[in-house]
Amino acid sequence: MAEKRVALVTGAGRGIGACIAKTLAADACDIAVVDYSDASAAEETMRELAELGAAARYYQCDVSGFAAVKAVADQIVKDFGKIDILVNNAGVTADDLLLRMSEAEWDRVLSINLKGCFNMIKHVTPYMLRKRYGRIVSISSVVGLMGNAGQANYAASKAGIIGLTKSVAKELGSRNITANAVAPGFIRTAMTDALTDEQKQAMYKLIPLGSLGEVQDIANAVKFLVSEDARYITGVVLKVDGGMYI
Ligand code: NAD
Repeated sequence: MAEKRVALVTGAGRGIGACIAKTLAADACDIAVVDYSDASAAEETMRELAELGAAARYYQCDVSGFAAVKAVADQIVKDFGKIDILVNNAGVTADDLLLRMSEAEWDRVLSINLKGCFNMIKHVTPYMLRKRYGRIVSISSVVGLMGNAGQANYAASKAGIIGLTKSVAKELGSRNITANAVAPGFIRTAMTDALTDEQKQAMYKLIPLGSLGEVQDIANAVKFLVSEDARYITGVVLKVDGGMYI
């Protein structure tokens, strides 16, 4: 039997990240879940990962902390022996119109969404370089491509992820490390479930495929980008948005 790959997924305690972790676990990966919430918030995810037959461990860490991320990356390699796949999924919003946006709202979103990806890539790739193998996928957003009123900080962070991804792809391609981004559109989550029917209808009008995406749609794209089928793909931004931004 082929050796299992080890995937580090940030923000995997819940939501899209949890679905990515489970999808990779079902695809013969062991999983390092990195999330800043208390481990109890990820209990269900951890149980499901174990049921899927994955060796799975939870690491509490704020991805915006440079030193903390190094410590976690080192610990994961101690525990699992390697990191083959890095999925930068942790992200937050702090929406406000530019006129009202505070410095703290700007700094928080940029340091988690963008610097968090840098921190992870910086501290995980030395291990990938030694193995001459690595698959990096960072979760951007269509908002990073199209902009969005009220989300200057979030859109800038998600656009930044694209520049970071393309640069990493160019720097590390010769070492068999690929770096790609996935840009989700509107995905059905607790947040979108809370919208009124009217608000939902307005959203559907923006989407040629006429419905919201599911978390599984994002996980499927990640699974493809880390697979052998995608071995010749690097530096791309794969939109998974029902055609919302064409
Ligand atoms: P979510 O809020 O449900 O989950 C985010 C997870 O990240 C949580 O478990 C949270 O604890 C963790 N997290 C937050 N800050 C962290 C930090 N500093 N360090 C470590 N972990 C942290 O969000 P989601 O909807 O599942 O979104 C996941 C990713 O997809 C985010 O990057 C988001 O920007 C992106 N995205 C989501 C949508 C959507 O429609 N939901 C659309 C486009 C992009």
